[in-house]
Amino acid sequence: MTEDRAAVLAEIAAQVRACRACRLWEGTTNGVPGAGDPNAEIMFIGEGPGFNEDKKGLPFVGRSGDYLEKMLKLINLHRDQVFIANVVKHRPPDNRDPLPDEMAACKPYLDRQIVVINPLVIVTLGRFSMARYFPNGKITQIHGTPKYEDGRAYYPLFHPAAVLRNPTLEPQMEADFKRLLEVIAEVKTQRAKTTKPADNKTEPPPSGPPKQLSLF
Ligand code: URA
Repeated sequence: MTEDRAAVLAEIAAQVRACRACRLWEGTTNGVPGAGDPNAEIMFIGEGPGFNEDKKGLPFVGRSGDYLEKMLKLINLHRDQVFIANVVKHRPPDNRDPLPDEMAACKPYLDRQIVVINPLVIVTLGRFSMARYFPNGKITQIHGTPKYEDGRAYYPLFHPAAVLRNPTLEPQMEADFKRLLEVIAEVKTQRAKTTKPADNKTEPPPSGPPKQLSLF
């Protein structure tokens, strides 16, 4: 099953790299499908690739990525143990905001990645991924407040670039990251309660093997 997940993710990645569904691929060097553990308990969703991500074909490898890695280290995690993706998978020119039709064109890829990985927690980084799950949310009000739904938590955080621009947000970001461990524990408790002993099928599809990364 682990191999199946990896294989399906690799197939999606190949489709992303060849994608011409919107204008964003024009002028880019690489598509950036996302990267990390196919069995990750935590999936981060950012906005879109920037300069460094486009050059390397990997998400969050510039200054925002360094900060994200620093936050992960706070809770004893490495980026290889989580999955990191974006709302759009080719770099918007001059790092402009992604347009609605570009996000719509990319949505099927991200939706499929979420189904395959089936993470316990989806962490949104920035307003575009937050809008998927908190359409009227204001990040200054809802950051660090999980929403538990369908056997999963949706957890909105500040975008690392916003924290780098405004260092007064750092203590809040650190506290929100530390709370991530509690959020995971809560989802596990909820899933354990709703899983009947004789029928292990109540988690969101696809039901997979026990997660490799066990934080508790
Ligand atoms: N910012 C994002 O939102 N995504 C990346 O991959 C890099 C920076």
